[in-house]
Amino acid sequence: MAELGAAAPLMPLEQALDRLLAMADQAPLCEIERVPLAEADGRVLAAGLVSTLDLPPWSNSAMDGYALRLADWNGEPLVVSQRIQAGQAPAPLLAGTCARIFTGAPVPAGADCVEMQENVESLADGRVRFTQALGLNQNIRPQGQETRVGEQVLPAGTCLGPIELGLAASLGHAHLDVVRKVRVAVLSTGDELVDPGQPLGPGQIYNSNRRLLVSWLQRLGCEVIDAGILPDDLAKTRTRLAQLGHAELILSTGGVSVGEADFLGVALREEGELALWKLAIKPGKPLTFGHFRGVPVIGLPGNPASTLVTFALLARPYLMRRMGVVDVTPLAFEVPVGFTWSKPGNRREYLRGRLENGRAVIYPNQSSGVLRSAAWAEGLVEVLEGRTLAEGDRVRFIPLSEVLG
Ligand code: AMP
Ligand code: MG
Repeated sequence: MAELGAAAPLMPLEQALDRLLAMADQAPLCEIERVPLAEADGRVLAAGLVSTLDLPPWSNSAMDGYALRLADWNGEPLVVSQRIQAGQAPAPLLAGTCARIFTGAPVPAGADCVEMQENVESLADGRVRFTQALGLNQNIRPQGQETRVGEQVLPAGTCLGPIELGLAASLGHAHLDVVRKVRVAVLSTGDELVDPGQPLGPGQIYNSNRRLLVSWLQRLGCEVIDAGILPDDLAKTRTRLAQLGHAELILSTGGVSVGEADFLGVALREEGELALWKLAIKPGKPLTFGHFRGVPVIGLPGNPASTLVTFALLARPYLMRRMGVVDVTPLAFEVPVGFTWSKPGNRREYLRGRLENGRAVIYPNQSSGVLRSAAWAEGLVEVLEGRTLAEGDRVRFIPLSEVLG
């Protein structure tokens, strides 16, 4: 694996992503688990979901009203010969009559039209008069309009959420075949780190990346091995990495800044392979990718906003692809900006911003150490390399909600 030296050019985001996805494609998770629908939220569908039903299973009424055969109607009132509620099985419609029918109830054989009750007058003798012109098949939801037996309704690789689970339930599935969770070990490197709950000594800070990544990974359907804090020490780095042989990805933060003693890098070089990338993005320039005794390792930069951006744009798609998701690109859209940007950068910026009156605005402090910027934000505002912005210019906006789940 090529390593980039100090003078190497910055790597475009697309190139880094392509490389990571290619590596993910070489190490797919092939094991499948059958889980109850109730446990499938957030998982990835392992095989295409094929319908075993027509949906709806029979033609049914879209309205509360009256079902009739259009050819039986000559403008005269009709006798009501049966009453059909949702959940009932109707008798065939008697010729020359109509049926009282409710939303979701099966349309009786022989009927080809439903009129809504608002357009029907009940007469004193029990018959009903249709007051408006009627059309063939109106207000009838035909059998199989949503799906037919044998049709694939969700492809393999679909991320399952409430909507997909609702759809699977509508087809009667009690269990789904999903991809096994990928096992990700989370390591926070840094002598200065202390976990919340401990007193803060001189020079120490609380470890925010551990919680950020552990919670995020769980949402993505990963099995997390919380490997805690790793001091900046080569021997301890070797020992800790060696304990993580059961992980399918080691995700570390910190220790990848230029000039710092890079213990992770040294350990990877000794017992595996290492690529150090300098990405053309801000925040999040330095990124490590390598293997330790065959286990893939991604080293994200330690500043929390850098961790967030590199995880969202690179590590997340890599993990989703390992789990078989084909389209790992988050939905983004173009918005006009409500701020100006006068200094063109040589790296693409991902500013923490939100939408106000349809325009993207940014948090005033965009330091990569300020995680509060992302808590305030609704999305990442992408400012391309070499670009300046005047108010109203358009940029891409990636909603954080798109990448968090
Ligand atoms: P590093 O990449 O190790 O040089 O870290 C860059 C900056 O991020 C330093 O200010 C670190 O203190 C900070 N940092 C590193 N890891 C964490 C973490 N887990 N939580 C909060 N801040 C961190
Ligand atoms: Mg550090």
